[in-house]
Amino acid sequence: MKLAIRAALALLVLFLAACATHAPRPDSNPPLILVSIDGFRADYFERGLSPNLKAIADAGVHAAAMRPAFPTLTFPNHYTLVTGLYPDHHGIVNNTMVDPVLGNFTYKKSSELSARWWEGAEPLWVTADKQGVRTATMFWPGSDVEIRGHRPDYYLPFNGKMTAGQRIDQVLAWLDQPAAKRPRFLTLYFEQLDHESHDHGPGSTEADAALREVDASIGHLVAELEKRDLYKNANLVIVSDHGMAETDAERTVILDSIVDLRHIDLVTSGIAVGINPKPGYEAEVERAMLAPRGHMQCWRKGELPARLHYGTHPRIPALVCVPESGWLIETQEFHSRPNHRMHGGEHGYDNDDPHMRALFLAHGPAFKRGLSVPEFDNVDVYPLLAHLLDIRPEPNDGNPATMREMLQ
Ligand SMILES: [Zn+2]
Repeated sequence: MKLAIRAALALLVLFLAACATHAPRPDSNPPLILVSIDGFRADYFERGLSPNLKAIADAGVHAAAMRPAFPTLTFPNHYTLVTGLYPDHHGIVNNTMVDPVLGNFTYKKSSELSARWWEGAEPLWVTADKQGVRTATMFWPGSDVEIRGHRPDYYLPFNGKMTAGQRIDQVLAWLDQPAAKRPRFLTLYFEQLDHESHDHGPGSTEADAALREVDASIGHLVAELEKRDLYKNANLVIVSDHGMAETDAERTVILDSIVDLRHIDLVTSGIAVGINPKPGYEAEVERAMLAPRGHMQCWRKGELPARLHYGTHPRIPALVCVPESGWLIETQEFHSRPNHRMHGGEHGYDNDDPHMRALFLAHGPAFKRGLSVPEFDNVDVYPLLAHLLDIRPEPNDGNPATMREMLQ
């Protein structure tokens, strides 16, 4: 009998030990909300126009800046943030692309909805879904595409007419569902600041007004999360994809003066320029484009500086050219169009350009409070997000050490 009691006690101890190890802690699975403010340059934060973001930084983690991946464009960087891979590795190498098999990709056409463009990598919402985490995307490049047979549990096809308020309401509606339906990973995306900075320049009153507006939206989100007791109980990560440099039509390198346009396919122009010489003209075009000249530099795709992590993917054209910050590379025909913008803002430049620096803020139960961290690369965001969701990340280019100092 004594033996039986002792055995039962031993079993009980084992059972309790197992419970201590495996029982979910009440705070172990908080929701994660990933917010992107497109085009929010790191130093916009210092303008004193974003008190709500400042309050989040004061109570959470703020990076001096976040270095985007090259090219510093919207689609490549949004996919980098949710894969931890450089564009060369995830395959969304530009906003405009030509693939040897798939043909032309441009985000203005529905061809982007072809899954194969995105399937070079697995975005976080797919990995989360495969590991039992419910997901919801209130816009994110690639999130309205079926990738490797998966979609977010909740998503909407991109619609630029949907206001910031409507997007926040949708996120809250998803969070207000019963536990069995509630998503645990959510994205939210705002593009108005990017648009105003493109149209009027990063130093314009219009950009400042958009900055105030998006900050007010963040304030609304925080207030609504507080009502639900979620502000301190959800992890909030706020990022941008790239910054913005002031441009001027006077600062343009005209391609016609360098190369015979009939001998090239111009895949992209403007900032991160891609050129494929037409067959038979390779040597002539290379000679013209690779010659040293002011305000622009070109490389063969395999010869870009290693720090750019760019140049092996089949979608990258044979020659890649990048203008000096604030300059453009255009054809005379494009430059002379009557609606050509004289002043404005652009991105896509070298990711070492301080104007391209992006925003990083984080707040919630996982994060230290009132911590400033030095600049880091945006590939490091993905391992952080996977950790917050408690899922196994896919192989990636990120450095997990970056997140360690941010976490409680
Ligand atoms: Zn962008």
